[in-house]
Amino acid sequence: MKCRKCSAKAVINMRQHKLALCKSHYLDWIPEQTQRFIDKYKMFTHDDNILVAVSGGKDSLALWDILVRLGYRTAGLYIGLGIDGGISYSDESQRLAKKFAQSCNLHLISVGFPEEYGSTIPEIAKLTMRGRGKPCSVCGMSRRHIMNRVAREEEFDVLVTGHNLDDEAAVLFGNTINWQGGYLLRQQPVLEANHPGLVKKAKPLCRFYEREMAAYTILRDIEYVYDECPYSVGAKSIYYKELLNKLETDRPGAKLNFYLSFLRAKKEGLFSSSTDQKPMELNTCNNCGQPTSVPGECAFCRMLVSIAD
Ligand code: SF4
Ligand code: ZN
Ligand code: ZN
Repeated sequence: MKCRKCSAKAVINMRQHKLALCKSHYLDWIPEQTQRFIDKYKMFTHDDNILVAVSGGKDSLALWDILVRLGYRTAGLYIGLGIDGGISYSDESQRLAKKFAQSCNLHLISVGFPEEYGSTIPEIAKLTMRGRGKPCSVCGMSRRHIMNRVAREEEFDVLVTGHNLDDEAAVLFGNTINWQGGYLLRQQPVLEANHPGLVKKAKPLCRFYEREMAAYTILRDIEYVYDECPYSVGAKSIYYKELLNKLETDRPGAKLNFYLSFLRAKKEGLFSSSTDQKPMELNTCNNCGQPTSVPGECAFCRMLVSIAD
């Protein structure tokens, strides 16, 4: 297969776009498209300070690389979760995030959960859930809290994450089959800072397929952590991704169409006549000042108190 732009050998064929590209044109196409999405969804400008949430995985490192190539002012944030002590998932993730930052001379902020809060995420999950289930809800809530806290403290204008189309389509699928109206309302490429304690959030890769990001990272020679978190085994999101991949195999572009049609339907008023789907009213946590859905202390502060008891 040949590159549509120069007839050299193509390295990727994107069936949903009917577009095959060589290495050089692919590595130009990805940042060009990213810039288009940043502008289309009014994510940020070159005057903004951008905090990139970096996990050491392909998507977040690719995102950081693309934003640097596009000339944005960025710093990275790595959150150490303490998953599987020793030479582990967390250690390897941190090593690769650091390696990337050093090789590009970029500033990486590291927050270690065990160092800062005295316990790893799995340990906290054990304490708060009495050993039942996976630590994912504690992990997700804690990461969101820390990302927002660091972005506020360090005065960043926007926090960006490396969610790709496969991630977004899987979340959308899960929320749709369960008709989670509140989550559907909030799922979008940009979340404005609609509360004094909240930082604006954006997902510049939300229209790229996972395989496109993997190809980009490999072609840019960026080393990333291949292994998934051990707790992701059996996750519903992975099952939803598999289902959507089957659909995509038969109907190229189905995933992209699913996501973009949803965004279009929302823009055209899918939720506008619903009286019970107004955005959630937020309170301010008495302890940390971050937004919370319930009055008093936020879930993160309550969790810290419960493990100290
Ligand atoms: Fe956290 Fe791992 Fe669960 Fe993801 S799979 S939420 S990283 S514990
Ligand atoms: Zn080419
Ligand atoms: Zn709080």
